[in-house]
Amino acid sequence: MRTTVGIIGAGPAGLFLSHLLHQNGIESVVLERRDRAYCERRQRAGVVEHGVAEALRDTGLGERMDREGFRHDGIELRFDGRGHRIDFPDLTGRHVMIWAQTEIVKDLIARRLADGGRIVFEAEATGIEGIESDRPRIRFASGGAEDVLECDYVVACDGFHGIGRTSLPEEVVRTYDKVYPFAWLGILADVPPSCDELIYARHERGFALHSMRSETVSRLYLQVPADTDPADWSDDRIWSELAARFELRESDWKLGTGPITDKSLTPMRSFVTEPMRHGRLFLAGDAAHIVPPTGAKGLNLAMRDVMLLAEGLRSWYGTGDGAGLDAYSDTALRRVWRAEHFSYWMTSLLHIDPAATPFDKRLQQSYLEHIAACRPAAAQLAENYTGLPAV
Ligand SMILES: Cc1cc2nc3c(=O)[nH]c(=O)nc-3n(C[C@H](O)[C@H](O)[C@H](O)COP(=O)(O)OP(=O)(O)OC[C@H]3O[C@@H](n4cnc5c(N)ncnc54)[C@H](O)[C@@H]3O)c2cc1C
Repeated sequence: MRTTVGIIGAGPAGLFLSHLLHQNGIESVVLERRDRAYCERRQRAGVVEHGVAEALRDTGLGERMDREGFRHDGIELRFDGRGHRIDFPDLTGRHVMIWAQTEIVKDLIARRLADGGRIVFEAEATGIEGIESDRPRIRFASGGAEDVLECDYVVACDGFHGIGRTSLPEEVVRTYDKVYPFAWLGILADVPPSCDELIYARHERGFALHSMRSETVSRLYLQVPADTDPADWSDDRIWSELAARFELRESDWKLGTGPITDKSLTPMRSFVTEPMRHGRLFLAGDAAHIVPPTGAKGLNLAMRDVMLLAEGLRSWYGTGDGAGLDAYSDTALRRVWRAEHFSYWMTSLLHIDPAATPFDKRLQQSYLEHIAACRPAAAQLAENYTGLPAV
């Protein structure tokens, strides 16, 4: 098999890249080790930055998002039994969309197939060869047979556990890693959201997040120890812990409860690989970097990487100008490190580290009060949350 750009992974990064390349007349093939149904129901992110939502609209993928998703103009920070709204349009002129990653993936797959795109499901990439030559190849296994995809460029959009990152020569790679001593227990519940916007709660018992998937489905998270087994958390225990962490003083607001349809554990980690390109192999999305989900940046960074890379490939194939491709790694990493810092900062601000001293906790409290009282501090949070236009 031969194509122009060989893409490993049909997550948001790989699918969006393939879509953007198609719109610029560049052929690609996506290899995906899972089947289509699995890719379309994998529960993950749900907050889409202003600029990424615009990019979806500009490329013909915004229609269902605008019809079924929610535009959010703010979030609530809840601490010390009180809520403080961060107003995005007032502070930044921007907003975010609440639109699940599963829906973005469904729309992308449907659109690629309708456009005649090639996504090979249940095809596992097993090796990447010749990245320092002008004829790189991806070896893959499909239907019990071995095959080879030859291409001009390989883009590894194969997530944190893929083979892209480990195919870079050891001597050129630097990695940066931080593992947090807690995780998120996430639930999906058949209950209408208890408020119109996301609530980020910092409580002595730990962090909690209230978000939503639709008018009738809520998505909620609890900070739990990193080694938690979700099976140890009964539905009653989850609801009573959520109610305690979201409790408001001087208000009769109540958290709605309902049947829990999904429970999962998300580990918390920060990770960056540098560089994001070697020879004819590019890395994009979780293949190159991971953030803890507190800042809602993982999906957005993946989409931003491939927007940048598609632009570089468009210039290269359109005019022979390779400057965008040459600058890809440095340019992408500037945004990645900003998002890494923001995600780390939000995580440290809102979670209770098991090793935190009373001094550490008072500092957290003081910073939260500062954000609630000081417009520039709130604006900085809003700027990063809604997505920095340029870095
Ligand atoms: C459990 C979980 C919960 C998350 N929750 C949030 C959240 O609430 N908010 C947020 O912002 N972010 C969240 N994230 C992060 C966000 O979902 C990711 O940043 C996003 O999925 C990155 O997209 P991607 O396309 O780079 O990688 P992925 O979505 O991981 O896609 C990679 C694809 O490559 C495929 N693949 C891997 N190896 C191979 C191979 N060898 N051959 C072929 N295919 C291969 C995989 O099957 C997968 O389909 C979460 C992540 C996880 C894991």
